[in-house]
Order: sequence, then C-alpha cells, then structure tokens
Amino acid sequence: MAASTNAFEMAQAQFDRVADMLQLDPEVREILRWPLREFHFRIPVRMDDGSMRVFEGFRVQHNDARGPNKGGIRFHPAETIDTVRALGTWMTWKCAVVDIPLGGGKGGVIVDPATLSTGEKERLVRGWVQQMWRNIGPRQDVPAPDVGTTPQMMGWMMDEYSKLAGQFTPGVITGKPVGGGGSLGRTEATGYGVIYTVREALKHLKIDPKTCTAAIQGFGNVAQYAAIGFIEMLGGKVICVSYWDREDRISYTVSKEDGLDPHFLMSITDQYGSIDKTKAKAAGYVIESGDAWITKDVDVLIPSALEGQVNSETVLQIKPRVKVIAEGANGPTTPEADVILKERGIFMIPDFLCNAGGVTVSYFEGVQNDMNFYWSKEEVLQKEDEKMTSAFHAVLEMSVKEKVYMRDAAYMVSIARVVKAMQLRGWI
Ligand code: GLU
Repeated sequence: MAASTNAFEMAQAQFDRVADMLQLDPEVREILRWPLREFHFRIPVRMDDGSMRVFEGFRVQHNDARGPNKGGIRFHPAETIDTVRALGTWMTWKCAVVDIPLGGGKGGVIVDPATLSTGEKERLVRGWVQQMWRNIGPRQDVPAPDVGTTPQMMGWMMDEYSKLAGQFTPGVITGKPVGGGGSLGRTEATGYGVIYTVREALKHLKIDPKTCTAAIQGFGNVAQYAAIGFIEMLGGKVICVSYWDREDRISYTVSKEDGLDPHFLMSITDQYGSIDKTKAKAAGYVIESGDAWITKDVDVLIPSALEGQVNSETVLQIKPRVKVIAEGANGPTTPEADVILKERGIFMIPDFLCNAGGVTVSYFEGVQNDMNFYWSKEEVLQKEDEKMTSAFHAVLEMSVKEKVYMRDAAYMVSIARVVKAMQLRGWI
C-alpha cells in the first residue's frame, strides 16, 4: 500500500464527490460519511509457549438501513481502524449495488496470521467472537472471510457463537466450510463474479474476450478464481499474477507470455498466498520483483490485492493497450489515479460492483442456512451470475444516462437505494 493512502479518506472522497453531484441533503451525508457504530476491543490469547498475547480487534457497522450489517473480517499486520472503516463503508455500497437486503460492516485484527499456529488461530478467532457476540447475529451483523481469514476460521467462529447463544446458529457468519453450513460456490464466488462483470464489459465494448489478455495483481482467493474464470469461462489468456513473498518481504510478478496455468500455480502456492519461485522458474515462468504486473501490455488489468495499488505513480505505467480495469480488490485505485484513468477512457469496473460476487453468495449462504436446505453449485453460480449481470447493467445504464464515470454511477445506484431504505424507515 502506498504510504500516503488512507483508505477511509479515499472512501469518503469518493462518496463526497458523488454526494456533490447528487446535491445530497447535508443531514443524509452526515449519516452516510461515517459508520453508525464502531467496536474496538482487545483479545487476550494464550500462546503455545504459555505466554499471553493481547491482540487488537475491530468491528465497524457502517449502515444497516437495508438489512443486517454484512462484511468480512480481515487479519493483517497493517490493519487500522481507518482501513476497517473504509472496507465497512464499501460493503454498504456493495450490498446495495447487487440489491441484496443487507447493510455494510467490516472487522479486523492487527495480526499476521502466518505467525500463528493452528491452535493460536483458533483461540484468537474464538476470542474475537467472545468480544463481539452480543453485537453480531443473523439479524444484526454477519461476518465473513476477507484477507488473512479462512473458511475453517469461520467454522470455529460459528461454533463459538452457537455455544454462547445456546443454539446452533449457522447464519451468524458466512464463508463457512462446505459440510459445516457453507454454500457450494462460495470459494469461487468473488473471482468468478469479477469475470461475469468483465464478460459484460467486453460485450459492451464489442471486444471478443478470446482475443484478450489479462494481468492480475495478487494470487489469493479472488485472483486465483478470476484467473481460472478469465481462461475457462471467457477463453482469454492470463499472462501474469503477483504475490507478496513472505520470506523476501517484497512482491513478485510471475509471468508466462503465452498464458499461465492457474491450477499449476495454485498447486505450488502456500496457504498464505506465497508461490514457490523455484518450482515456478523450473516450469518456465519469469519472476520479476515489484509492480511489474501493472506495466504489462494487456487488454485487462485485474488488481486483486490490497488498497491504493493503482495510485498517482503506478497509474503512469499502464500501457495504452489496456481497455478495462476490473477491481477484484477493495479500494485498489486512489481518487488521483481515477482522474487519469477517466481521462484516458479506460473502462472501469469499480470494486464494490466488480467484487460483489463474494457477498452475493454469502447472502445465498445465509438464505440456505435459514431454510436449512442447500442448493447445487450450478444453482448458486447461476443465481450469482444473474445478480452480477443485472447489477453491472444497472450501473452501466446510469453511467450512460448521466454521462459519468462507472465508479460514480455505481455510487449513484447504491446511494439512491440506501437513502430510500432510510426514508422508508423514517430515519431521515
Ligand atoms: N470480504 C468479502 C468482501 O469484501 C466478502 C464479504 C462477505 O461475504 O460478507 O466483499
């Protein structure tokens, strides 16, 4: 992340810009610029060596006018209250843009999960629930995975909540393992959702996806399935991905000019997203350090890592051939970079639209938990595709009608829906 990028300032700047365009009532603005509730707490954890470590945890509930707060929990060493605020705010817009009856929230813990043993991780996530259980629940706030958290952790958290609440409550959290209350298709959902929106964007631009190449930043859950989807659903080629190397403490871009094989790369990636460089090199991949992914001569860029990656410096390295940016990550583009991308006429699929497939299938998971009846993977992915496709077209239509940048159009669609819910409930 660029040092100068404060994600929450970014989220507020994006909102303010559209609030100005819409001449939004100042009182409404005051509600939406800030989270409604924030929890800061400390989680004491007994470590394997017998010592006690105290972790700092957060949960931000931005807005629940449209339904229970919804959003992941991120475990990251650079987590701050402002990153959690930004991510929670974007969740409100994300759930609104795909028109699912949920609000926005986010959680976090300042920790590098790779430094913890399995037992320590379990005690930490159970501790998180012990601090928050009175303020989460299927009708209050429903957490999920994000960077640094996994389906197994969601399973432990569901168990802890069920014990404290005295009843089996699978709908308290989503992204659980399949067989433990999880939904088929949830693992693939975010990455595939990115590709559904890329497919619609290319159709709109009248570009044949089979002629397209993509460069992806990241190789976590979103990037992995975006790569698979780009190749297997669209017939395009992915020429690089990138990852953060835990040992060398820098990022690397891993490329293959004639198209990489995401399944092979996944087979040599550890649970924290580090690719085995030696094995990749032996298989003919080229390894470059730093932000090389953004300099590639491709048609589609898919930043799927962290915030602030496409910024006033890196944006200048984007090649003229790039036609579409699909934001798999939350907040990858800074407002300064947006100005340049807009001028250059690059088609932007903004984050809270592009990566909304994850929360969409989380919503389906909650619905299945409530019914206690589970759908096939095909049914889940089909329903996800319908939601993503109609959300994409609602935003595109707004962008064409109002002659505005796609990010602004997405904000317009979402803000209108949240404001309407607040009006109907008599909040404003
Ligand atoms: N963490 C994911 C996101 O940023 C998923 C949230 C969820 O499923 O609730 O959209």
